[in-house]
Amino acid sequence: MCPSECQEIVPLADIYGSNVFNDTVMRRTLPKEIYKSFRQTIEEGLPLDGQVAEVVASVMKDWAIGKGATHFTHWFQPLTSITAEKHDSFISPTADGRVILEFSGKELVKGEPDASSFPSGGLRATFEARGYTAWDYTSPAFVKDGTLYIPTAFASYTGEALDKKTPLLRSMDALSRQALRVLRALGNTTTKRVTTTVGPEQEYFLIDKKLFDQREDLILTGRTLFGAKPPKGQELEDHYFGQLKDRISAFMSDLDTELWKLGVAAKTKHNEVAPAQHELAPIFSTTNIATDHNQLTMETMKKVALRHGLVCLLHEKPFAGINGSGKHNNWSMSTNDGQNLLEPGKDPHENLQFLVFLSAVIQAVDDYADLLRVAAASPGNDHRLGANEAPPAIISMFLGAQLTDILAQIEAGGAKRSKAGGMMHLGATSLPALAKDTTDRNRTSPFAFTGNKFEFRMVGSMQSIAQANFVLNTIVAESLSQFADRLEKAADAKKESAQIILDVVRKHKRIIFNGNNYATEWVTEAKQRGLPNIANTVDAIAAIRADKNIALMEKHGVLSRVELESRTEIQYEIYIKTINIEGQTMVEMAKRQILPAVIAFRAELAASISAVTAIEGNAEVENALFVQVSQTLRSFSTNLSKLEEALKTAAGLHGDTLAQAEAYRDLVFKAMGELRKDADFLETMVDADFWPMPTYAKLLFNL
Ligand code: ADP
Ligand code: MG
Repeated sequence: MCPSECQEIVPLADIYGSNVFNDTVMRRTLPKEIYKSFRQTIEEGLPLDGQVAEVVASVMKDWAIGKGATHFTHWFQPLTSITAEKHDSFISPTADGRVILEFSGKELVKGEPDASSFPSGGLRATFEARGYTAWDYTSPAFVKDGTLYIPTAFASYTGEALDKKTPLLRSMDALSRQALRVLRALGNTTTKRVTTTVGPEQEYFLIDKKLFDQREDLILTGRTLFGAKPPKGQELEDHYFGQLKDRISAFMSDLDTELWKLGVAAKTKHNEVAPAQHELAPIFSTTNIATDHNQLTMETMKKVALRHGLVCLLHEKPFAGINGSGKHNNWSMSTNDGQNLLEPGKDPHENLQFLVFLSAVIQAVDDYADLLRVAAASPGNDHRLGANEAPPAIISMFLGAQLTDILAQIEAGGAKRSKAGGMMHLGATSLPALAKDTTDRNRTSPFAFTGNKFEFRMVGSMQSIAQANFVLNTIVAESLSQFADRLEKAADAKKESAQIILDVVRKHKRIIFNGNNYATEWVTEAKQRGLPNIANTVDAIAAIRADKNIALMEKHGVLSRVELESRTEIQYEIYIKTINIEGQTMVEMAKRQILPAVIAFRAELAASISAVTAIEGNAEVENALFVQVSQTLRSFSTNLSKLEEALKTAAGLHGDTLAQAEAYRDLVFKAMGELRKDADFLETMVDADFWPMPTYAKLLFNL
């Protein structure tokens, strides 16, 4: 590969979006009428016209071929955490032995991947196993590695969603519908659509590929299953925002370029708290594009890392005892005419509107904390949420002193008002700009208001952000729909808005917490407030099929009962499979790497004890070490058998996913912890030359 010095310098403006079939390209290449019609379809979320699809397909194909594409793929997001693709070439043979390049509107709009092996949670019988993909024209197509990528939704032939994008798109519609009702009731006659916007901050680790290759646990599970605490961790805090090392810097600039080509607006990059940990944040965009782009970002990180002899670890907890990785999901709502609905107002009318939308979020998070919790639940994220790390498993909301004070005043004023029966002074003066200044920043809250958006901080680094966002969109749509019901009936919408805000403050203020979420006192207080504290994935999953949540999802047309039931099954299955793979990998490493290493070391110790004793009459030091190694080795061997036993028991529970998931959590996961303790202790005693895998110190500090 050409070193960076010899590469031709291409202006950034020419790189950005150069591989994307974006608005500029469409305006340039599509016939004017078609462009206008297609634009309107996208902006207003209208159904797609067949004629338009035909023209767009033909133009898109020519553009893609001009970018070197020979294939196209319907790119989709099945219920795993990665994306899927199957490539078809554009060629179509002619009778005289040549080929022509073809791509029809039908091929653009609909695909039939033979996708029977994706998880469906029992939704798909084999006779209808194929499922189909449908073009999501609200997210732009792009060319990558010689293929035209068409973002699509994936569903069964009976119409059930088999992916993460479908409910996300449905939830965006639901939120828009309900937000528009509220805006209309408040006198807005011009806004046509409300979209949710998202900017996900992505954390990740980079380690040397040569070291990665020596660790079976990293290769098979994405995290280290063994590893003693290194002499140095993150205590000096010398990594956070530290100067970028050359190799990392080269990776990051290469990554930026690749992402920019794909139209991903990578904006900020820096070192994170843990050694070898970094972060990338893009500029926010609409939720479904942000979701597609986050998937692309994760894929590109992995790919570009390899070019630099590095491996990108996206797992939530690659190293025990070192900070894990998450994804801060910054979320807001904005109108097609450019208003951020979570931006405090410039005049009393806007203030009132802001407070109504803010109240909608407060109520939503309190009413459906369990759904938000499960949206961030995964085996990897269990090492963060509910363990002694950020953020905690209890969902609460940080509003900051200023806003909390405003709400307190409303509550106090409201109390007076209800006695006096007069109009309250809500929104009489304009709210101060709620600066997200450094003094008022809470870093421990799982759901924090940051001036003009909310930051949901629980999502795991490896997870798709789709679920977090379709849950957010839907639960806020529900509050808004309840508000709209009241506002549409009210004689005075302003007065009613004030009443709604007051009611929300009174009923839901328990969810607001501005203090330290890591303090043990918070756990006690949250319990007193009646807030759920769901410590692990297996316990969190039940929320998906809770009656109140099925009713919510069905009411807004986001997911049906059967779809939710299938997703419940899939989440249990993912948990079961993940822990099983981890457990099996531990057994394999313990038996074939650690055990032989310790046995060999012990034999050498024994030999040296005889040799030394022959000369000196005793071998105190060697003996002491021998005893301790032997003791730990015995315990290690016992715990290894226990883990194997636990794996057998859990596997035997096949057929009852809940019972099986619980067994993997209570038996297997626990046994893994015991085995690891012994192994990590052995690591501190055994000669480094005997230890069969790179240590934490090497993995974390060698770049
Ligand atoms: P932080 O200090 O947390 O890094 P930033 O201001 O850098 O905060 O923003 C973090 C993320 O929030 C970025 O991806 C940014 O684009 C995104 N963001 C900013 N405004 C909005 C908004 N209105 N809706 C959604 N995301 C937003
Ligand atoms: Mg942030």
